[in-house]
Amino acid sequence: MKKIYVTKALLPTYEEYCEAIKPLWETHNITNMGVYHKLFQSELQDYMEVQNVSLFCNGHMALEMTLQAMELAGEVITTPFTFVSTTHAIVRNGLTPVFCDIRRDNYTIDVNKIEEAITEKTCAILPVHVYGHICDVERIDKIAKKYNLKVIYDAAHAFGVSYKNIPVGRFGDASMFSFHATKVFNTIEGGAITFSDDRLESRLYNLKNFGIKSQDEVEYVGANAKMNEFSAIMGLCNLKQVQWAIDERKRVYERYLENLSDVAGIVFCKNNPEQTQNYAYVPVLVLEAFGKTRDELFNILAEQEIYVRKYFYPIVTELDCYTDKQMPKDTPVANEISQKILTLPIYPTLDNSEVDRVCEVIRRVHENKD
Ligand SMILES: *Cc1c(COP(=O)(O)O)cnc(C)c1O
Repeated sequence: MKKIYVTKALLPTYEEYCEAIKPLWETHNITNMGVYHKLFQSELQDYMEVQNVSLFCNGHMALEMTLQAMELAGEVITTPFTFVSTTHAIVRNGLTPVFCDIRRDNYTIDVNKIEEAITEKTCAILPVHVYGHICDVERIDKIAKKYNLKVIYDAAHAFGVSYKNIPVGRFGDASMFSFHATKVFNTIEGGAITFSDDRLESRLYNLKNFGIKSQDEVEYVGANAKMNEFSAIMGLCNLKQVQWAIDERKRVYERYLENLSDVAGIVFCKNNPEQTQNYAYVPVLVLEAFGKTRDELFNILAEQEIYVRKYFYPIVTELDCYTDKQMPKDTPVANEISQKILTLPIYPTLDNSEVDRVCEVIRRVHENKD
């Protein structure tokens, strides 16, 4: 029986990539913002329909350097229902994360609870477009304006999505995208920041290159977070097929929906009709009516060589590196969702018979045949 993993990296054909990287053997310019870096940045800017985009070696460093470039100090309101990178980027900048609870319907930040988390030390809000579901950007924008706060979105999951016809990269002051191998669109490892303030451009450019301003001048305590040419070329190749990838993901998602929507206790995340989807994940809640717990279902699927993910579990505030910190943890919804959530396998080449096999196992568990 074929093993089914939760995801599979999107790749161009071997021949296409080899052909595309060939010129690098002529020039030997394989990193340091080369010609492909420039070309990819410009194609991405067109694709994402944004004013500014800066490329990075990964999404995490893009986020970390953006917080540094904004010269923030104090508290940042965020959510614990995310990948640990979001919180690390805050803490590694000497900022204090303040955890706000999430919504029950799409797991993004609960805007009704943001204002009560604001203090005189609050400098920014860092919400996450979880699974590609767009946060309540309008109300977040209102709150940010009222209290003069920066808004930086963790849009790692939301590549290619738009909300009310506005491309996702235009919301807030900045948005971080991850181009990691496991994401909808990848550059092997990679990431980008889209942003509205033109002044951030040169600052980000220098920061990701050790803070070097010119040959004799180092202006910032930067880091090394540049995207190399092999990644930029992977990005150029994958950009050509990303719409195909999203279309195939839609097929997979709809097959799950068709097969499982009548199974009691399996609840799909609500899709907002005002936004487009990239079908980055298939999150389902395993509720009591299912008859087995989330963890039991996870284990039974693993026995059948179907590897799903408890994503996000545990929530950030429950992780070893943060449990000893004095952080308020009043996020009951995030806690509850993380106990029940499971993300099912999805990638463009997952065929219908494989989706059916996953669903069949889930149905059998529910009907107590296992
Ligand atoms: C993947 C991811 C990141 C980090 O991106 P990398 O490119 O892997 O560094 C940050 N936040 C979220 C929500 C992610 O899923």
